[in-house]
Amino acid sequence: MSINFSEQANDEIITTTASLPEDNAEGSLRPKTISEYIGQEKAKENLSIFINAAKLRGESLDHVLLHGPPGLGKTTLAAVIANEMGVNMRITSGPAIEKPGDLVAMLTNLNEGDILFVDEIHRLNRAYEEILYPAMEDFAIDIILGKGPSANSIHLDLPRFTLIGATTRSGQLTAPLRDRFGVSLRLELYTPEELQRIVVRSAGILNVQIEPAGAYEIASRSRGTPRIANRMLRRVRDFAQVRADGVITQEVADKALSALEVDKLGLDALDRRMLSSIIEYYGGGPVGLETLAATINEEAVTLEDVYEPYLLQRGFLTRTPRGRCVTQKAYQHLGLEYLGQQQLDI
Ligand code: ADP
Repeated sequence: MSINFSEQANDEIITTTASLPEDNAEGSLRPKTISEYIGQEKAKENLSIFINAAKLRGESLDHVLLHGPPGLGKTTLAAVIANEMGVNMRITSGPAIEKPGDLVAMLTNLNEGDILFVDEIHRLNRAYEEILYPAMEDFAIDIILGKGPSANSIHLDLPRFTLIGATTRSGQLTAPLRDRFGVSLRLELYTPEELQRIVVRSAGILNVQIEPAGAYEIASRSRGTPRIANRMLRRVRDFAQVRADGVITQEVADKALSALEVDKLGLDALDRRMLSSIIEYYGGGPVGLETLAATINEEAVTLEDVYEPYLLQRGFLTRTPRGRCVTQKAYQHLGLEYLGQQQLDI
């Protein structure tokens, strides 16, 4: 049997933070308790306090807003909260709520203490948000039946529930909705050491033999994102089984990931294209996000939500009021000569 790993790379981008069909097995890798949930220490510390306080008072948890780039563990953390609180969680998402009735049905089907998880809550239709306001604040909704003078309003009490909203763009939430979350937690990109622990844990669950250096190699190339780290682990495992003796060593991980066109620092083809375009066409920047997106034929939102966070974290890119600039480090990484940032700053 022979697998061409470089060909696979062309089919889909392994470093995408979006969930791919192959990530379906993610469920088994999700940590269930706060102690299993690696990293995000600040968010976990705050949450533990809120969870314990709510449990002591015998009340439901305050509504929680989780924000941060995709694949960092927002859904996982919501399930961890439900598990720690000992309650059920119902899952929906902003775009899945197509009519007000969908939301009303979700709310009225909740049991006391339940969690309603709304992924991509910034994409919830603004008109339906208003149903959420009294639901979140007073645990009640008013439903209008009929139209015109014969319209009737029915007041429905809801059980005390907790809304957990997840968003990659908290800036797009309306102020009234944002204000109704008592707890707002930002998830940060993970350090390579934290991702290494995640990879080792996942390898244990998947029954894969991995050396610490092999796990670190995967960790340091997965853009600070557990979803990518787990996906890379599965791809490297395939490579190890076909080309090596099944054990993931540093060398095996390096070879497999290089074949997938992920470089030493986890940058993929689009990252490099983004950086080199700023250099080639805009003298290193500053360039506005929309202009850059048009230049490389990508959506500005994708660049901002998915690509930029990692490039900023690794110091390849800076954000200035006049646009994005690449740093000297980016020139070095791409093997280009750095002539200073002032070229276009006339
Ligand atoms: P998001 O909802 O932010 O897009 P998910 O919660 O779906 O991200 O997480 C993606 C995958 O990454 C999960 O299946 C889980 O296996 C893994 N993961 C996320 N956060 C952690 C963590 N802190 N520790 C271990 N695994 C994690």
